Amino acid sequence: MTYLVNNPEEFAADSLRGFVAAFPEYVQPVHGGVVRASASPHGEVSVVVGGGSGHYPAFAGWVGSGIAHGSVCGNIFASPSASQVTSVVRAADNGGGTLLLFGNYAGDVLHFGNGAQQLRAEGMDVRIVPISDDIASNTPDKHDDRRGIAGDLFVVKVAGAAAAAGKSLDEVEALARKANARTRTLGVAFTGCTLPGASEPLFTVESGTFGLGLGIHGEQGISSHEMASARDIATMLVDKILAEEPARDENYAGRVGVLVNGLGATKYEELFVLYGTVAQLLEERGLTPVGPIVDEQVTSLDMAGVSLTLCFLDEELEELWLAGCDTPALRRGVVEHSQQKRVVRAEEDEEIPAGSADSAAFAEKIAEILDVFERSAREAEPMLGKIDAIAGDGDHGQGMTLGTTAAAKAARECVAASAGARTLLARAGAAWSEGAGGTSGALWGGALGRIAVGLSDQETPSREEIIAAVVAGARAIQEMGGAQIGDKTMIDAVIPFAQGLEERANSSASLADIWRAAAQEATDAAEATAEILARKGRARTHGEASIGTPDPGAISFALLMSAVPDLIAE
Ligand code: ADP
Ligand code: MG
Repeated sequence: MTYLVNNPEEFAADSLRGFVAAFPEYVQPVHGGVVRASASPHGEVSVVVGGGSGHYPAFAGWVGSGIAHGSVCGNIFASPSASQVTSVVRAADNGGGTLLLFGNYAGDVLHFGNGAQQLRAEGMDVRIVPISDDIASNTPDKHDDRRGIAGDLFVVKVAGAAAAAGKSLDEVEALARKANARTRTLGVAFTGCTLPGASEPLFTVESGTFGLGLGIHGEQGISSHEMASARDIATMLVDKILAEEPARDENYAGRVGVLVNGLGATKYEELFVLYGTVAQLLEERGLTPVGPIVDEQVTSLDMAGVSLTLCFLDEELEELWLAGCDTPALRRGVVEHSQQKRVVRAEEDEEIPAGSADSAAFAEKIAEILDVFERSAREAEPMLGKIDAIAGDGDHGQGMTLGTTAAAKAARECVAASAGARTLLARAGAAWSEGAGGTSGALWGGALGRIAVGLSDQETPSREEIIAAVVAGARAIQEMGGAQIGDKTMIDAVIPFAQGLEERANSSASLADIWRAAAQEATDAAEATAEILARKGRARTHGEASIGTPDPGAISFALLMSAVPDLIAE
């Protein structure tokens, strides 16, 4: 439950504003997140972290001397957009290249990847290491495909210390990869978490039980167990993690970095109770805890639960793990502060160019459609959230509302400036992706951007040109996300829709009728996804649970497409 809230949709932004006000000596706000308040030496590698909000101190709480230079801050549980990534990276740049670190989730991989690509095209050296420490989310041979949870701290800390020590981008990247390869986390959940403004938690844990293998976005775990003592839970976590302990040799002497992490609603005293047993068990197994942290470092809103992370250290990693740092959420040793302020250039707003009268009239029609998208998404928000919570993370309804709202607002601004169709759709797409975050936000925003490319700010397109542009936008979703039909994603509705439009492009029916028929096919296909086992996207870790429930992204796509025909009837 969230007690202190103004407008739930503004919760993440309101919280970030307060955070910046509370730590002015550490951070300053920029578009898309925060960067350090103080300057770094020229040529130092910049470490930029990020992801959705709802995990504080991850990620903004780690911005400061010895750790991160900037943090990209998405909405609650939703990846930030590519334009937020590029903005924070530019503001955090010290001229030594940038390492981007984030938890391994489809939405983050997509948005951070798009952002990095854009920055590389501008000549910046930007590297990416997705963090994947959660042993419940995949098998040991697929460690790089696992999700990132509390182990984020180890990778970020090691990379930040390496950058502060003056290492090159190649070295910092290699050290981050090594830290990720040697970090393992497993957690247990006692209650679900509740999104700000929501009255129901994303999931509930049956009383007298706990979920093993929790995620940090309201994923309840992979198995349910009868409630046990703190000692038994500690033993279970230690045993399962140590099953992946590397052989002890000259590179690993049994020294482990340790984090006992509270998920947001577990008392510090309880965390210490757990750590008491963990320390004892490690000692019994001949292991030495190094620089242990018992704290909240990666939370999941108000979830009750705890995770244990071990990092199998070598000498190099140990030095970086223990190195001094001073950030809002983590301090070690004594750190000297640069007295120089980091000067951040404000990004100017570009003026919206006007289009021809014909194209502006067509653009106004598109703005009307986006308005209806917003209304439909708001209406469907609880339903979409509910089906996303079954196999995903429960945020799809919120993501669609935020995305369509931002797109509709950007479109209205374009209409006020008499913009053409191409400009309006390009701006609406960027706003959608930024407003929604998440996987679907990146895909919708990218699709609108692709449709824009097929239109102009001067001429009114023919029926064939409209169909071709929309089909190209739909196919772009597949290119960006890499999903195939049958993976149980929105692609299962998007491709039948695109085919439905294409097949009828030369028929004598009206555009509205063609669209209606294609949207019906998308709706049937979306409903049929209930029978598929999830393979792609965040839902893949909860495959079994998804049977019987359709894919939320496919359902919302079909819903919005079905709203269009009535608007284009004339
Ligand atoms: P997130 O998964 O980041 O929480 P949302 O909840 O907003 O994002 O969207 C989830 C939807 O995104 C899924 O139901 C699915 O339809 C779609 N999706 C996820 N991954 C892909 C992908 N690789 N390609 C196409 N669609 C995808
Ligand atoms: Mg989701």
